[in-house]
Amino acid sequence: MSIDLSIIIPIYNEQDNIPVLYNRLSKVAQSMSLSYELLFINDGSVDASLGMLIALSQSDSNVNYINLSRNFGHQIAVTAGIDNCKGDAVVIIDADLQDPPELIEDLYRKMQEGFEVVYARRRNRSGESILKKATAKIFYRILTKITTVKIPVDTGDFRILDRKVVNVLKNMPEQQKYLRGQIAWIGFNQTHIEYDRDERHAGHTGYTYSKMIRLALDGITSFSNLPLKFATIAGFVVSGITFLVALYALYARFISKDYVPGWTSLIIAVLFIGGVQLITIGIIGEYMSRVSANVRNRPLYIIDSTNTNVE
Ligand code: UDP
Ligand code: MG
Repeated sequence: MSIDLSIIIPIYNEQDNIPVLYNRLSKVAQSMSLSYELLFINDGSVDASLGMLIALSQSDSNVNYINLSRNFGHQIAVTAGIDNCKGDAVVIIDADLQDPPELIEDLYRKMQEGFEVVYARRRNRSGESILKKATAKIFYRILTKITTVKIPVDTGDFRILDRKVVNVLKNMPEQQKYLRGQIAWIGFNQTHIEYDRDERHAGHTGYTYSKMIRLALDGITSFSNLPLKFATIAGFVVSGITFLVALYALYARFISKDYVPGWTSLIIAVLFIGGVQLITIGIIGEYMSRVSANVRNRPLYIIDSTNTNVE
């Protein structure tokens, strides 16, 4: 049975946020007079979160929860929600109230104008460390430079998705999840609204620096082959330089006769091998990039609409 709206909330040690979060989300969803579910994903919390979610699901039939066997990380937790939600429209929101629940109404309204994805773009983010803001900013700028997919900058995962997009996402079984990249890659009509990001309501960030670095690497490796091409480029640059140095070595040996015995053959051999090695690694990289593209198992294309029968 399908419902109008699913709200997916990943939960990792959010016991102090759950009561307020639940109240604000329920209030918004009820004011929109839709059939809805709040789908909480407990991502291996070690505090009282799970017990609270179970209690809520018993007292409120709009609340569902999925309890993962351990901490899999934010992106996988959201994926578990996407795979198992019932809504025609699906919202992804953080549990710490940094994404204001009241904005869901605006996201939903914008979607009705004919968009399949409406993401919320942060105008500013308060209460986060300068280092976090700076690294995020630099990372998003680099990522857009080196990918072919237009991944929006300054957005988290707070967004609303149409069922069409959710169904495609479910068919993207790649191991490294970088949802905002995947959603950008899927296409259809996408737009954004802007908002001011609040401070975390309570508790601590579950995103350690190591988790952030992993997310950044997943984003880059899933949507760019540029790092793999680096060896090829370096190989050709080094080979070019090698050629010039080799010419000089031969000149010094045979024409100006200004040389140390043995140097010519040695330097030519070293440079030549260096260049060949880099190019060879580059060739392997080219194959690797194709292998990794196939391993990702993304569909080759996505049909939005057609007037004929398609599979
Ligand atoms: N989260 C999760 N698993 C994790 C880390 C975080 O499900 O391993 C959830 C967390 O409960 C929150 C959302 O992901 O709902 C965003 O996490 P957080 O607020 O800690 O990240 P930040 O806003 O600091 O980037
Ligand atoms: Mg947060």
